[in-house]
Amino acid sequence: MGRARIGVTSWHHPDREERWEYVRDNYTRSVYRAGGLPVIFPMPSSDPAVLDEYLAGVEGLLFTGGEDVHPEFYGDTVRPKCEEIDRERDLFELGLAKRALERGIPAFGICRGHQLMNVACGGTLYQDISERTGTVPEHRTKREERAQLRHGVRILPDTRLRQIVGAEKLKVTSTHHQFVHRLGNGLKATAFADDGIIEGIEKPDRPFFLAVQWHPERMADNDPAQLALFQALVRAASGRL
Ligand code: MN
Repeated sequence: MGRARIGVTSWHHPDREERWEYVRDNYTRSVYRAGGLPVIFPMPSSDPAVLDEYLAGVEGLLFTGGEDVHPEFYGDTVRPKCEEIDRERDLFELGLAKRALERGIPAFGICRGHQLMNVACGGTLYQDISERTGTVPEHRTKREERAQLRHGVRILPDTRLRQIVGAEKLKVTSTHHQFVHRLGNGLKATAFADDGIIEGIEKPDRPFFLAVQWHPERMADNDPAQLALFQALVRAASGRL
């Protein structure tokens, strides 16, 4: 049996006069190390027929980190602390996530991907750490500190996440200023930071619809519990080969 193909969502940035589509390689390499075949998805169009063609070519999806999701997609307006937005990327990825929900396509989300999957289920986001009192600054990390373990998370028993990582407590990397506010329909919060913010979600009535707010792709080389998240996605996707 060949490797399950995992669609990996990409960034989409202007650089001088031209635009680039790219992805940080620890996402694709973690998928590969976990036994999957990463397939980067550029986003020339969010036409429904195009989304279906992308999905016909993969068995699973990885929603990567990146920009803030446009608040219009969760019924909110843009406040001053909301940062970079890529509405085209939102439309593309929300289209993929909604199809993953409808069709039971295995999907794993990281950071922005975790927020996006919550929004795809009808949930909302805090637009910045400053919108919730008592939130610790360790969620947000300077560029040079991105590989460091920044804060603890507690993982609830009786969750898929707990089965996968096999531990109640982890220390994780963290580079986000937004986070889940109201959970989307049918989602379960699976992990919490020390200050109570939601760091993991999953949808128990789907074969594999799971996300984390931290960055396992930055830890997967050295930490089997973090690599296990990618392995679980690949295992779920392999069931569709
Ligand atoms: Mn965090």
